[in-house]
Amino acid sequence: MNRIAARSMELLRILERAGFESVLVGGAVRDLLLGRASEDADIATEASFSDLAALFPCGKIVGPPGKAVFLVPGEGGRREISSFDGGSLEADLARRDFTVNALALRSTGELVGTRRSRRDIGLRILRFNGRSADRLVEDPLRALRLARFASTLPGFSVHRSASSGVRSAAPSLERCAPERVGREMRLGLAGDPCVFVRSLAACGLLHMLRSLRGANRGGLLRPLLSLRRLDGGDAPLLRRTALLASCDRDGAYPDPDGEADVLRVLNEWRWPGALCSETALLVRLRGAPAARLTLQEMASLLLERGCAFWDSLFALGDAVSSDPAVGRRITANRERFAMLAVRLENEKECVPSGDELMERFSLSSGPEVGILMYELRMEHLLRGFSTKEEALEHGAELRKRL
Ligand code: ATP
Ligand code: MG
Repeated sequence: MNRIAARSMELLRILERAGFESVLVGGAVRDLLLGRASEDADIATEASFSDLAALFPCGKIVGPPGKAVFLVPGEGGRREISSFDGGSLEADLARRDFTVNALALRSTGELVGTRRSRRDIGLRILRFNGRSADRLVEDPLRALRLARFASTLPGFSVHRSASSGVRSAAPSLERCAPERVGREMRLGLAGDPCVFVRSLAACGLLHMLRSLRGANRGGLLRPLLSLRRLDGGDAPLLRRTALLASCDRDGAYPDPDGEADVLRVLNEWRWPGALCSETALLVRLRGAPAARLTLQEMASLLLERGCAFWDSLFALGDAVSSDPAVGRRITANRERFAMLAVRLENEKECVPSGDELMERFSLSSGPEVGILMYELRMEHLLRGFSTKEEALEHGAELRKRL
């Protein structure tokens, strides 16, 4: 049993000892049956929120009335307790989205749920827990969750009845809070992005990517091919998202409009701030690997953003480009970049530290040291000092000019 499930069992036993029927439920049970680790675990109990508050003083109620849950912090992940106070476990399971998410596990090891739920886990099939049309009217987000689970649960496929159900219901996801949409988009893209995009297409939900892909949006082939070229399955989410946002845009460099577009969408989805801004910046500068850059421009971007940023830019450039001439420019720029990266790597031996600069030039800390330091780092990238002494001599020259 994975750690988070084991810790949840402790909570179950506390609840049961207090006399409340309680089960582990939803994704954690599904993952346990699949032998996967879970990020978090959900517990359902007949205890009311005030019972829960009395039993777990460190927990708190979150969410709007009617959808509130009780959160218990804990090592290795949070546990979420929902209350079916006044209802039944069967009713709690029936309101869950997919058959594979509608199973419960008692602390005795007894599994509760329909035969279809168990069979669908075995067959790795995703289908709605009930009539798709009804379930989608209750909550259109379930349409997007279908594609998200297809992408994150390995080996699972969407049952035809489910994708055709979504297509004919054409659920309006605008009704859903943007952060709920954003969470599913984030998880879907972080899984197998090709499966996610294909599942969105099969469900008639490709428009969910529309705002990200920009105005020149073409067919699916290009983004899918590019995504496959981008990673062997392990490209970070930021690269995948930047790629989807890049492959239908033209080669403008830099592209502040693309950046603003993408930033707006990701902020609307309430993705973490740094992820939004980094992704949007990649979109802005995506043309850099194929652009006619001076070495100086390349070096200053390297100093500002670091190697990992350039690695992402080159990965995007390779994945998107199909034109051999563009490919040759990327190769040439990569060679120039490799030289800069080697110098950046050995700058500790060849560029004096701030303290060393202050000592040599009798400076106290302040902007002058920062400027001098930046100039020397830049000079090292462009020309390459072989010793710190050489850099300090150059620093003395610079100080006369600055
Ligand atoms: P993951 O491991 O990716 O978190 P999960 O199945 O735990 O997957 P959550 O979004 O954390 O997914 O939801 C927890 C459980 O709550 C689900 O397994 C499902 O039973 C239920 N659930 C969540 N969202 C919905 C919804 N929109 N409609 C119905 N049931 C839902
Ligand atoms: Mg979960």
